[in-house]
Amino acid sequence: MAEEKKVAVYICKGCGIGDAIDVEKIKEAVENEYKVPVKIHDALCGSDGVNLIKNDISSEGLTAVVIAACSPRVKKEVFDFGENVFVERVNLREGVAWTHEPNDENTQMMAEDYVKMGVVKAQKAEFPEPYIEETSKDILVVGGGVTGLTAAIEIAKAGYNVYLVEKEPELGGWVRKFAKILPGKQPYRELKDASAYLEEKVKEVESNSRIKIYTSTKIKSISGQPGMFDVIVSKNGSEEQFRVGAIVVATGWKPYDASKLENLGYGKFANVITNIELEQMLKEGKLTRPSDGKPVKNVAFILCAGQRDPEHIPYCSTVCCLTSLKEALCIRELDKDANVYIFYRDMRTVGIYEEFYKRAQEDEGIFLTKGEVKGIYEDEYGDLVVEVTNTLLGEDVKVRADLVVLATGMLSSMYGLYTTKEEYPEEGEPPYKHIKPAVPKEVAFANKDKEWILNLQYRQGPELPTLRYGMPDSHYICFPYESRRTGIYAAGCVRAPMTVRDCEIDARGAALKAIQCVELVAQGKTTFPRTGDIDYPNFFLQRCTQCKRCTEECPFGALDEDEKGTPQPNPLRCRRCGICFGACPEKIISFKQYSVDMISSMLKAVSVPEGEDKPRIIVFACENDAYPAIDMAAKNGLKFNPFVRIIPVRCLGSVNVVFIADSLSRGIDGILLLGCKFGEDYQCHFIRGSELANRRMENVQETLQRLFLEPERVKLLEVEISDWPKIPEILDGFVEEIKKIGPNPYKGF
Ligand code: SF4
Ligand code: SF4
Repeated sequence: MAEEKKVAVYICKGCGIGDAIDVEKIKEAVENEYKVPVKIHDALCGSDGVNLIKNDISSEGLTAVVIAACSPRVKKEVFDFGENVFVERVNLREGVAWTHEPNDENTQMMAEDYVKMGVVKAQKAEFPEPYIEETSKDILVVGGGVTGLTAAIEIAKAGYNVYLVEKEPELGGWVRKFAKILPGKQPYRELKDASAYLEEKVKEVESNSRIKIYTSTKIKSISGQPGMFDVIVSKNGSEEQFRVGAIVVATGWKPYDASKLENLGYGKFANVITNIELEQMLKEGKLTRPSDGKPVKNVAFILCAGQRDPEHIPYCSTVCCLTSLKEALCIRELDKDANVYIFYRDMRTVGIYEEFYKRAQEDEGIFLTKGEVKGIYEDEYGDLVVEVTNTLLGEDVKVRADLVVLATGMLSSMYGLYTTKEEYPEEGEPPYKHIKPAVPKEVAFANKDKEWILNLQYRQGPELPTLRYGMPDSHYICFPYESRRTGIYAAGCVRAPMTVRDCEIDARGAALKAIQCVELVAQGKTTFPRTGDIDYPNFFLQRCTQCKRCTEECPFGALDEDEKGTPQPNPLRCRRCGICFGACPEKIISFKQYSVDMISSMLKAVSVPEGEDKPRIIVFACENDAYPAIDMAAKNGLKFNPFVRIIPVRCLGSVNVVFIADSLSRGIDGILLLGCKFGEDYQCHFIRGSELANRRMENVQETLQRLFLEPERVKLLEVEISDWPKIPEILDGFVEEIKKIGPNPYKGF
């Protein structure tokens, strides 16, 4: 039961609210029905208004205030009265006054409903207690390449201890195998010596007493939750255990398997090699033909070898054009008489790297042209002949070469590691059918101890789930570095192909995220996107039927299970999305400030007039995109139908079917769920929330059948913030559809 709260309501007349709504009438209705004091003010956000509320809080001992004014998305700090006062914001400005006919009966009813819903919510909300444990602020960095080294340095410089784990005997990653690296700063023209660059970084790591280095070491297991990750590492048969608060995964990339590029002569001709094999030659300072050891004088580069190709790697690996230019310059440095021919599909040297491109163009021994490779064959002297068509020269070109270098692409080191059956469907096809998984399915599922990188002891699998192409980001658009495992951040080429310079930048971003995480969880607060929220789900497990919906649907793997299937929450892994709450058929999951009781009571506060002329539509709008889009529509002067009642929700996934059933059985005529785009290119801030809501629509249809109601009464639509101009069309359109169906026959029951 919610503790008894002392609630007061404050209605603002500013920003046009007082001109559009009869606020005195609302005051009277609310005071009569809820017996709470209501005060009206000309501009609540001004110091006079804020002081009025503050004085009442101290003199009356208020524990909850309902501010009926502007959108909850603005002026958060102004209306923050400390942790002991619950603040409920009722959106009269954007939600009513700015979007509806002033002084109209329907506008007035809408405003009154919203204020009543706000009062009920304030009465039902409880004060959450943060989940405080003794947490660690140390950070684990997995991977000792440039990204891992940079992340370790930055974290240590910020005053946190780092455990740096590298599986190879030496730190340095791929750069250790290179002779030169690209320039990382102005004027972006001169190559850097890879060893000198790396040694400086390694020295910085080795000399920092905050960084503990483990080489030739693998992660045996990671269990626990942010702030309390217990890590077991193994090295030459011996094990060590330590506790960290967050993890940066910087495990880098692996080259695409060139044996799949037989069409470009790889595996067929000894003198066709990959850019990685060339790096080794350059490092050794010896440029000879693999077939006969003769010196190399003419080198042909074929760019996009297997890349931007649906049969191989569908994406651009970002760095190969630049790497080829770098290698061409290295060849010319080694032998000023050598000639280099570069055949590209498009030369992509983004940003200031255009300067570096110019530098290569200026070299008279480097010949560059756009073109498509028609064929590669060996002539009678054992030389390779590359035939290129569609060149910029307007004619086909034939080049005789001692060495052909294929610019093959980068795969994430996580590529091929699938964590759940869902991501590795039964049919045996990974999401991208044309790329063969690096770890076959049988191995992936059977050899857990051998093949995994992180070995997470999570119910939902031992590795970070990946997005398209095997990269472990959780959201392409909004949240770089975030993975679907709270407290674990990906940086560098494990999450996207990038240059050494960009790996350094990325490492800093992920390091900051990890630091934010350890600081937040130490205070029992969640991380992005509900940053700072201390409320976490409570499970009334006595009534749990072990249906496993919550454990399976939690997008962040926050819930483990005991042997019977009862959920075992890890509150610090939780991102407070409410998807488990939406999933639970027993309705036994609740937050202190987001519960079935609270939302059901708010629904009950909505007036349901009888008859046809005033239908009632409930809109559950995702607070991340859909609700802001409605606010944007308001700011831009758009109007929409006054029969809708909008309830912001954490995510569409947090909408329990019971809300829909309750609404319909009360006579609500239609229900619209507005959430983020789902599917492969999802924009849901909680990964799968809107998709799960869509799947749950099947259950909704059962409810509708049971109630003998038309299926069209409930609809789910995808809305992104930039869709704000469509808001009137969406809302008005749905109201019209409902009007055509006619009133809900349960009205008045
Ligand atoms: S609120 Fe979200 S993150 Fe937390 S346990 Fe439930 S589904 Fe998982
Ligand atoms: S969804 Fe509810 S009933 Fe099912 S396992 Fe989770 S807590 Fe138990």
